[in-house]
Amino acid sequence: MIISESILEELLKALPQIRPQLYFKSSLTALSHAMEDQVLAGVDRPLVIASFQRERFYRQEAHRYLRIAERTDQVYVLAAPETDFSERSQDYEMIAFEPADALSQEWHLVVLGEHYASCLICRERRQPDPPANIQDLHVDQSRRFEGIWTFDRQIVCESAELLLTRIQRYRPDLAAKTELMLAKLKTDANEGFNQVDPGPFAERLVTYLQAGQYKLAKAYRSIAEKERKERLINSITAAVRRSLNPHEILQVAVQELGTVLGAGRCLIYRCKSTDETATLEHEFLGSCGYSGSGNARNQPSVSETHSLVGQTWSLQANPIFQEVIQKQEPVYLEDTHVDERSRDQRGLTQNGQIRSWLMVPVLNQNQLLGIVELHYCNAIPHKLERSELEMVEAIVTQIGVALIQAEAYANLEDLNQQLEALDRTRSNLIAITGHELRTPLSTIQVCLESLATEPDMSANLRQVMLNSALTDADRMRKLIQDFLTLSRLESGRIEWRLEPLPLEECVDLALSSLQSHKYNAPLPKITTRLPTELPLVQVDGEWLVEVISKLLNNACKFTDSDGQITIEAHHNDSRMLEVTIADTGRGIEFNRLETVFDRFYQEEGALRRTTGGTGLGLAICRQIIAGWGGRIWAESDGKDRGSQFHFTIPIVQPSPQEKKPVSSRRRKTN
Ligand code: ADP
Repeated sequence: MIISESILEELLKALPQIRPQLYFKSSLTALSHAMEDQVLAGVDRPLVIASFQRERFYRQEAHRYLRIAERTDQVYVLAAPETDFSERSQDYEMIAFEPADALSQEWHLVVLGEHYASCLICRERRQPDPPANIQDLHVDQSRRFEGIWTFDRQIVCESAELLLTRIQRYRPDLAAKTELMLAKLKTDANEGFNQVDPGPFAERLVTYLQAGQYKLAKAYRSIAEKERKERLINSITAAVRRSLNPHEILQVAVQELGTVLGAGRCLIYRCKSTDETATLEHEFLGSCGYSGSGNARNQPSVSETHSLVGQTWSLQANPIFQEVIQKQEPVYLEDTHVDERSRDQRGLTQNGQIRSWLMVPVLNQNQLLGIVELHYCNAIPHKLERSELEMVEAIVTQIGVALIQAEAYANLEDLNQQLEALDRTRSNLIAITGHELRTPLSTIQVCLESLATEPDMSANLRQVMLNSALTDADRMRKLIQDFLTLSRLESGRIEWRLEPLPLEECVDLALSSLQSHKYNAPLPKITTRLPTELPLVQVDGEWLVEVISKLLNNACKFTDSDGQITIEAHHNDSRMLEVTIADTGRGIEFNRLETVFDRFYQEEGALRRTTGGTGLGLAICRQIIAGWGGRIWAESDGKDRGSQFHFTIPIVQPSPQEKKPVSSRRRKTN
């Protein structure tokens, strides 16, 4: 049987002077409990009728109704069954109604005793369904009802009558009992009086109010927490989107994380699980109220925590790091003063003023990318909230993504550069085969063809032809050799054998290789002016001789026999030595000072070249010097005013033995 009439509506029809009000579910719960408490605290044997929307709401209160039933035999409980709620007459009368019944929208409680009467007759107001993801207690508490709650005996009697009549329709078997009650109501409504004791009501309502406030405060805290977390994640995600520079991302992350979690220090460093050490790079510094002595009773003074940036920490010797690696999850030491795991790390904890220590791994597919650390540097250990740890973990996931993304980008950049280098090599190869090699090859071909087809050629001419072919073959060999050298240097395939060397030795070797060259005219005068106490240079000797030889060779090629060439060196800063090879030759135009280092650049073009050379010498020199972190450049006052080529190379920081003066330099001329 489904009854669609609402009790509230019937009541309002019967007593049109009543003005219904709006009640939240939490208020109705408080009022209902207060009314029930009044029954339990009083001496009356009242009539109690309670109607629950669903069996589950009744179940929460079932034990109270058992206690109420011990005081009075006039208890009626109505509910829409869900499991085992059925029509029964045991401790009290149970009335089951259809879930589609109008009662399932309503909430009623009627208490009618000799000394007091109160009732609550309400109907739920339909609200739009909340989104599926919000199935929160707070949403349930904000359900709204309209109706009345009153101590007015007339209204209570009217409500009781309506409900008893309804009960008779569901449970005709209770007719005798309910009829008696209905008859009693008629006289009660006119004669009864109310001696309401507000005590239990007020007490109960205050308790509810308090509990409501606590819930509200908790809800605010959790919302604020969520907001904080979301803001933090958003700002880090924004940084990740904005930049592919891992340093920038980590700096933002360290700053935000440290600030939001109120840490004394936050560190992020990149490392692999097998790394021996890690250098601390990214840091946030907060406040520190740590006395340093480990005595919590000392009065700590609040100041900024000091920086650890630049320090190198051992990873393998740190048991906390080991635990993080093994568990692949965060490790927290709430109090480093008592935690055994930090016993061997006293140096670190004291140096870093770390009282509470959180270490979180940044992982990607179980591979360690780095570590995030939070240090709390107060005299009292920090209790880490679960929500704080969850926030750190959420951020660390973002950091992991950012690092992978940045790494992928860097790899791509690297690959791109390699491709560009390959492309350059390919274009060079095309240029060299297309022009630089074709020219001497044609000469060789012409000479050899003439030799083959002209049997009557004079012996002299034959010799000229042969010499010409040999010269061009030699030029081709040098060109290919230089080209291959440059390609190897550009692709970074050269392994430097760096060792401490006296510059003088390399200059001597270059000078002697110069003597073996054939020049068309006598060489200009070469003077070496090296200071007597030059520090050793940290270079690959073979390649340094190559650089000096090429520069000397150029100087000789472009300087007349009566000119001068000087080799000088000076120690211009604590790291580098500057070497200069200057000549008084044909000079270089100002706008060509950089171009001379381009591949295949030759002022007069290879075809008109009388001095020989491949146009690759200076490009090779630049690659070699750059490979050691040095610089090479040309200076000249212009045409026919000489040129100076300067380059810098690293020096060795001398140990006490090496500090001894290097043997005196001789003044050298050719
Ligand atoms: P090359 O084998 O042709 O000498 P380099 O790369 O060594 O190739 O030099 C490139 C060009 O730079 C030379 O062809 C020349 O035009 C110019 N150059 C190099 N050294 C000097 C110098 N000492 N004086 C004037 N010009 C120079």
